[in-house]
Parts: sequence; C-alpha cells; structure tokens
Amino acid sequence: MSITASVTLSDARIVSPEGVHDGWLTIEDGRVTHVGQGPAPRDGHSLGGRHVVPGFVDIHNHGGAGGSFPTGDQETARDAIALHEKHGTTTMVASLVSGPVAGLAAAAASLAELCDDGLLAGIHFEGPYISKDRCGAHDPAALRDPSPGEFAGLVKAGRGHVRMVTIAAELPGALDTIREAVGSGVIAAIGHSDATFEQTQAGIEAGGSVATHLYNAMPGLGHRAPGPIAALLEDERVTVELINDGVHVHPAMIKLAFDVAGPGRTALITDAMMATGLSDGVYKLGAMDVNVAGGVARLATDGTIAGSTLTMDVAFRRAVRMAGLTLPEAVSVTSATPARVLGLSDRLGTIAAGKFADLVVLSSDLEVEGVMRRGIWITEP
Ligand SMILES: [Zn+2]
Repeated sequence: MSITASVTLSDARIVSPEGVHDGWLTIEDGRVTHVGQGPAPRDGHSLGGRHVVPGFVDIHNHGGAGGSFPTGDQETARDAIALHEKHGTTTMVASLVSGPVAGLAAAAASLAELCDDGLLAGIHFEGPYISKDRCGAHDPAALRDPSPGEFAGLVKAGRGHVRMVTIAAELPGALDTIREAVGSGVIAAIGHSDATFEQTQAGIEAGGSVATHLYNAMPGLGHRAPGPIAALLEDERVTVELINDGVHVHPAMIKLAFDVAGPGRTALITDAMMATGLSDGVYKLGAMDVNVAGGVARLATDGTIAGSTLTMDVAFRRAVRMAGLTLPEAVSVTSATPARVLGLSDRLGTIAAGKFADLVVLSSDLEVEGVMRRGIWITEP
C-alpha cells in the first residue's frame, strides 16, 4: 500500500461523539494529522458541506458478498471485507459460529493471517459454549460445555488475534472459561444463553463485558424473572450489542436499550452473513442451510433468524431515523464505543489527530458517498 501525500479535506461537517462542527482535516501517511474549525488554511478537496463520520467499527460480522468467515477461506473473506468497506465499515471482527473444535481452530488460524495483514481487527468465537435452548442458527450438534483448557487451545490457534468469545453464563464451566478468556486478553461476551438474572450477574462478575446481540437468543424481560436482559442492561461494565435491522429487534426495544445503556455502552453490530450484498437465495451459515427472502436470513429447517444481511451504514441511518439518535450518538454506537470495546480507542473510533484516517462521507440523507480507510479512498466522494 502506497504512502499518501498530505491531503486536506475542507468544507466538511465533522461529527464526533461530542457534537458536529464545520471544519477541515488533513491526512498524512494514513493518519489524521490536524482537525480544524471553519475554513481550511489551504486549498483542499472540498466535501461541499457533507457530513464526515468516523469509519464504522463492527464487532460481530460473519461475512458478506458470498464470503463466510466461519469457513476460514481467505479469498472469499477478502470479498466480504471489501463489501463491508464499501458500506463504511473500516474495522471489523470476523465472527465464527459453533462447529467442531478442530474446524474452529483451523478457521481461526487462517483468518489470523488476514488480521496480520490489518484487514481484520480480530476473531470472535460465537460459541460453541452456548445454550442448546438458545442456539438460534447454530448447529445444536456442535454445542459444548465451556472448558478453559479447550478454549486456551482455540486462543492459541488464533495467534494473538482472538478478540472475543460468546459464552452462555449458566453452563457448567462457564465462569472459569470467562475468567480464562479475560486473563488471556479476550473479551468475554454473554449470549445465546438461557441464564437467569442471577446467573448472568455471576457471568459479569467473572469478567463478562459484552452482551452478544442483546434480546436475540436469550429469554425476554419478565417482571418476576428479569433474566439476562435486565442484568446486562443495568451493569455499567457491560456494552450491549444491538442488531438494528428492523427484523431482529423492534425499534421500541432498540430505544429502550439505548435509553438505559446510553451511547457509551451501546454498540450496533451487523451480525451479517454471507448473503449480505447479494440477492435472495439459498446460503450457508456454518453447517446450517439458510434461505434468504426479502433480505431476511432464516434457517431452512425451522425459520429461525440466521444472522442478517445488514450493513453498518443502514444500521447508522436506522439509528437516526427510527430510534431518534442524534448524529453524535449514532457515531458513538457505530464507531467510538465499539472501538473502545476492542481496546483500539487510541488509534480509531473518532476523527482526531493521530488516529487512522478512517472516514465515511455521508450525503444529506445519510447515504454513503465516500469511504476512506487508513488514508486511502475506497470510494472517493
Ligand atoms: Zn452472530
């Protein structure tokens, strides 16, 4: 990748978690070097008053454009990454689904090479340590009780690139495996779980700090049995993932979660699967057959929702239009907060001097018109 000369982007409406201001920025060697208010001090590439937001950070994504991260195939994984980049995602974690442990290790070892290349920000094991009763689109035959020793082997296979694991907190061995994950620098997420309120609290005490797609694949809120949702939402240590595609979660429940957790503890995710960016048809998610109709992915066997065909730009627009978030709040839940979850706030997640030049230029109706990653235009506005 070539080193870029200094570039100035002028006449921009720069959105940060703190607010929106008219200004300019300069970019050099893939990083933002200055962010200023008002007219640029020198001629630049005018953005014509369009909004510029930080590149989106997606911490839960299974693929797109025919590429499925659970297969570990590098070539099609690159297609998936390229598709999501076009939609503004400049940082993404590759999520696997439950499968035989040897296959998971092989997929992680393969995807670790794309992490080495800087194309992926890490690997997420969604399972196999999840509940049979809340397995969603995961293969029930692949589910296992959590084992710290076995998990340590999976972490090793990922060569330092395993960033997250989803565990059902009620399973035998769950708390020890959560502690093992956190001890080895892996984010422990609680989800695909049938846990009670108290079991979920124990999972958080052990180190669980993310809710894997809050609401989906867990018991609902009950007034006498608050369950995992209440425990995850109320705890200041937990960031909640939400799939804001209009299918997985009702807009009123998106708003409820946001009102409780706020922009600092809410991360929008896509949970996208391989059909994202393609037409309706028959696809796979791990070992499971999935039918996509009207853009909604469902298991061929029983119609269970099986990931999404969402991209982060759509999630961003829906957050503003349907859930009523301000632009700064929408930037928090699509960039700043997920970057903080990944421990990458020092280099990405907001538009600031010293951080990567990861930018999305949006039209007045919030459509993506430009994407820059590490100072290189993916799409030039
Ligand atoms: Zn998923």
